[in-house]
Amino acid sequence: MMTILSDQPGLSADSIIDANWLRRFRQRLRNWYRKHARSLPWRSDADPYRVWISEVMLQQTQVSTVIDYYQRFLQRFPDLNTLAAAEEQEVLRLWEGLGYYRRARQLHQAAIQIVKEHDGLFPSDRTSLLALPGIGRYTAGAILSIAFGQREPILEANTIRLLSRLLLLREETTRSDSQRQLWELAEVLLPRTSIGLFNQALMELGSLVCTPQNPACHECPVQEICPTHQHGLQEVIPVMAPKRAVTAIREAAVIIQDQSRVLLRRCSPQERWAGLWDFPRFEIRHQRGQALARELHENVFQLTGLQVSTSGCLQVIKHSVTRYRITLSCYQGQLVSPSTAEDELADSAEWVPLSDLQDYPLSVSGRKMCQCLLD
Ligand code: SF4
Repeated sequence: MMTILSDQPGLSADSIIDANWLRRFRQRLRNWYRKHARSLPWRSDADPYRVWISEVMLQQTQVSTVIDYYQRFLQRFPDLNTLAAAEEQEVLRLWEGLGYYRRARQLHQAAIQIVKEHDGLFPSDRTSLLALPGIGRYTAGAILSIAFGQREPILEANTIRLLSRLLLLREETTRSDSQRQLWELAEVLLPRTSIGLFNQALMELGSLVCTPQNPACHECPVQEICPTHQHGLQEVIPVMAPKRAVTAIREAAVIIQDQSRVLLRRCSPQERWAGLWDFPRFEIRHQRGQALARELHENVFQLTGLQVSTSGCLQVIKHSVTRYRITLSCYQGQLVSPSTAEDELADSAEWVPLSDLQDYPLSVSGRKMCQCLLD
């Protein structure tokens, strides 16, 4: 029988699980998944490349958002070799709007590495997978179990929540001891066969039923054997690390047009939009007058090498990135000496014909500015 020690911070997998509990859990989960699994494009084919793309896209992104991106991406890059041969800029353009662009850059780098080091064959062992950019224990586990049927556990946002509740885990899930217990349980739960399906069923239950707020325990196939439900602690578990305070910042972007072209610059690896293109953009301290004009002029010069004067604010865009709430004011810039437009230009900057803007990967706010410009 399952033992519940409610005054303990958590239960080790050994203390809650016996053969009977395990059998019931697996059976109920499988039956539920058979009836309730969503039909998703990446579930029709367990090819490792496709599993990999979907798992990376699904990190920190909702299924409903990923579907279109996944289909477009697969249409353009149907296999590893096509992806490896592409320009990073095109990969980022297809990723535009999905956020966390580092994922796309690492996906591309990993594809190149697989072609170089594994003759284009997707590695099927954990060590080789973990040596690839952007592949951690979770992604490796998903690829190995779903595409290769290996007995590898997975742990991502949905399963962390589900397993924390099965463990009655009262410590923050990010603590190393919590992580150890969660991985241990993820491994113990695995059946002998159909590992990939089982892992997907765990994620699906976490995503559809064992939700962060108001989990649908009344519809849950494991309700009777769930200690968190028995103790009514669904709103307390999982214990999340406190959210970092939101910081409000003010930024400016300057749209510099020269006849039918506009100035963009490629963001360096240290910048927020690394690898993407953007209008000259920077944080500002002043809000108006000469002080603001000077600040805009100095920053544009530093980023592009060009002397620019600015006129009124064209548009204000409010958006959030990680813990920053950003108010972005967009200004129109005019070259002080148009004849220096080419000579003084910084290496990272480029004059882009308006008709080519569609080909350049931009952030969501950058794309809004483009739209404003084209309108
Ligand atoms: S019974 Fe409720 S808390 Fe327990 S696993 Fe199911 S949905 Fe989650």
